[in-house]
Amino acid sequence: MSTATPPSDTAASPIPSRDPVFDELGFPTDPDNLYTQTVGQMLTAAEAINLQHRVRIILAQPKNEVMVHFPVRMNDGHHRLFKGYRIQHNNALGPYKGGFRYHEDVHLDDVKSLALLMTFKCALVRIPFGGGKGGVKIDPRSLAEDELQRVTRRYCAAISHIIGPDHDIPAPDVGTNAQIMAWFADTYMVSSGYADNDALRVVTGKPVSFGGSQGREKATGQGVADVLAEMLPGIGIPLHGMSVTLLGFGNVNSWAGRILQDMGANIVAVMDHTAALRNENGLDCHALAAYSEQNYGIAGYEKQPTATGAGTRADKGVEVISEEEFYRTKCDVFIPGALEQMIKPKQAEMMNCKVMAEAANAPCTPAGDRVLQDKGIEIIPAILANAGGVTVSYFEWLQNKSCVTWDAGHVDRELNRHMCAAAQRALDARKRYNCDLRTAAFAAALEHLGEVYKVRGIFP
Ligand code: NAD
Repeated sequence: MSTATPPSDTAASPIPSRDPVFDELGFPTDPDNLYTQTVGQMLTAAEAINLQHRVRIILAQPKNEVMVHFPVRMNDGHHRLFKGYRIQHNNALGPYKGGFRYHEDVHLDDVKSLALLMTFKCALVRIPFGGGKGGVKIDPRSLAEDELQRVTRRYCAAISHIIGPDHDIPAPDVGTNAQIMAWFADTYMVSSGYADNDALRVVTGKPVSFGGSQGREKATGQGVADVLAEMLPGIGIPLHGMSVTLLGFGNVNSWAGRILQDMGANIVAVMDHTAALRNENGLDCHALAAYSEQNYGIAGYEKQPTATGAGTRADKGVEVISEEEFYRTKCDVFIPGALEQMIKPKQAEMMNCKVMAEAANAPCTPAGDRVLQDKGIEIIPAILANAGGVTVSYFEWLQNKSCVTWDAGHVDRELNRHMCAAAQRALDARKRYNCDLRTAAFAAALEHLGEVYKVRGIFP
């Protein structure tokens, strides 16, 4: 599927006026800049709760922005120079926390946005972490496994002086996985001088055999399902029999799809970077996930014999559809779980759903978001919908710190408790401030951050 960005991004609703904090801090004037967009959402909520000016300006910029370049020997003998980032947005509530991604389009403003969202996610779910994010500009699929391992070890070495088990704790994101976290942890452990057990906590999302938590791999998808189960009854959509479309079918959405299917939902359409598929009777996400893992995408799945052996139902009647047909597919819940800013006004105009649950971070442009709001689509924002990943990362960190292991049922129950409480916090803030759910979720997180700044004060 194409990732090309249309030249302009206009929408029916008027563009909201620019917050004075943007000019005070010298922000770019481009309203579609992802970082400006994310800070704008935060400032709207700050205004709603009448947050102190000093907290607004602190949260509008990351504390630290680190950019690194490092060489790696490739298998043909030549050396290639890679660019990496680690952004530490805020640590008022605890150590910086946030994943790192491998993607060819990684750049500074995106990583800054993702780091800011982490601060708000942790504050909303009330886990004692701040926000950070990292990335390397690289197409991981173009590298051999040993090259990927060397890139990971050099990236870890390049940022090892600013991370640490009690200071900044990375995790997986787009293009990275448990194996990459294992190489990362190993590099830090052999080179940091920390006692081994403590150093293991430097990264979460590790394989279960190497200090990882039960349930971490599916955690973000599980969290999406938990939030939907908590909120949909209030919106009048029964879980059983509801129709769902998934944009993206990687870690997050393949798990969200499998879990929602097991809860009785019909996953009617899925699109990833290779194809778009539809089945009005419901796609079998278990079989599709097994196929996608082996084939690096869902393209060609429709040619499979109906019984793949991995699924819970036979997938009959799968059709290949266009990108436009995908967006136009009627459903109850649309779940974007791919990259940022894919939903522009053009896509938003086509979408035919009642609820959008943001499994991906910042999946809409501001103008796309306004079109969805105008259409009356209920948006469950990313800082709520996809907070399950960092929540189980916190559980992993806690287990490592106290040398215990939790069973899968305990992880699921604790995750559900955190996700339901966060959903109720956002709903409660929506009532109090009479605003949309995105502003309400930011407001509920900001109330906590604002209170902590009030009692801590600002040094000196
Ligand atoms: P992933 O790399 O496993 O999957 C990304 C998916 O996006 C793939 O299916 C890919 O095919 C699809 N995609 C990419 N470009 C596309 C395009 N142009 N059209 C259609 N599909 C496209 O990544 P992930 O870990 O599942 O993360 C997805 C989103 O969720 C990201 O925004 C990430 O920041 C967010 N997120 C991830 C986690 C986590 O624990 N992994 C936690 C919170 C939020």
